[in-house]
Amino acid sequence: MKKLSFLIPCHNEQANLDALYSRLCDFVVSTTEIPVFSDNPEEVASRLEFMDMKDYEWEFLFVNDGSTDDTLPILTRLSEQDSRVTVVSLSRNFGKENAMLAGLDEIDSDAVVIMDADLQHPIGIVPEMIYWWRRGYDDVYGHRSDRGAESWLRKKMSLSFYKILDRLSDIDTLPNVGDFRLLDRKAVRALTSLRESQRYTKGLFCWVGFKKKGVDFVQADRLAGKSSFNFIKLFNMAVDGITGYTTFPLRIAALAGTLVSLLAFVYLIYIFIKTLIWGETVTGFPTLICVILFLGGLQLLALGIIGEYIGRIFNEVKHRPPYVVDRIIRRGTIRNER
Ligand code: UDP
Ligand code: MG
Repeated sequence: MKKLSFLIPCHNEQANLDALYSRLCDFVVSTTEIPVFSDNPEEVASRLEFMDMKDYEWEFLFVNDGSTDDTLPILTRLSEQDSRVTVVSLSRNFGKENAMLAGLDEIDSDAVVIMDADLQHPIGIVPEMIYWWRRGYDDVYGHRSDRGAESWLRKKMSLSFYKILDRLSDIDTLPNVGDFRLLDRKAVRALTSLRESQRYTKGLFCWVGFKKKGVDFVQADRLAGKSSFNFIKLFNMAVDGITGYTTFPLRIAALAGTLVSLLAFVYLIYIFIKTLIWGETVTGFPTLICVILFLGGLQLLALGIIGEYIGRIFNEVKHRPPYVVDRIIRRGTIRNER
């Protein structure tokens, strides 16, 4: 019997956990008939395939990412009641990316479904993911065909970020694709072998490769509580995404430098000839100021970009673990990590 795990990072999700747990319990005993999809459009949904979730052994792995509310007590209670529940509790909040890694490190299943705790990810499409996985796809990702009640600005910013990242790096990034996905054991192993400390998992999914397949879903709204991500966090994540993925910004700095030097050289020749023909006049103070400020700005920008990378090097050479586990709870039994 194949074993599948749900990996659910939780940060202050007390209001969602019971609903989530009951949905998981209903799901793992459910049966569905899914239309048999095919890469060949003419064959789409020509017959139905019966899928029984009881054909699999299930594990619910929750990662408590330093919650300050009742998330941990609730999870502990669930693990006492239900042997399928495993809780990895981190010593503080390490962020979703590291929480996911903590979960992946702990998992030893044939495949894992990564899902948010706030019920934004419809569990109903998991059978379709499994269907594709059984047919040889190693990374079946959910593709948001609708992003739910996110603000217009956030949608816009997120899409332009994907576009920038896609242009800058040579690996295809997938817009509107998040962490909601089913990963085969192979992909999990590849992901856990990457130990960089400022993780941008969405990029790593693409980096590790493997056979990928998208499944459309409509993102629901958060059940309760509010999103842990604000604009600053998202902006930082975007910067992490770009600098962790590509060194192209460094090249932009070099290109800008070359371009400005070239222009300056042309301007120098122009001034030289002008002075030879018409003699010297002391004007152009505003131009001078503009040029100085412009170049100053450009230099600071380039320094900032270089600094961003040096910062990353600094963080990597410290070789700190990406997260620290406080305890792992299985069947109500606590295993303390040292
Ligand atoms: N999350 C986490 N650690 C954090 C922030 C979030 O484990 O520091 C979890 C959170 O509990 C949820 C998932 O990551 O299960 C997505 O978070 P959220 O809903 O806040 O983000 P959004 O859906 O707005 O991107
Ligand atoms: Mg959410």
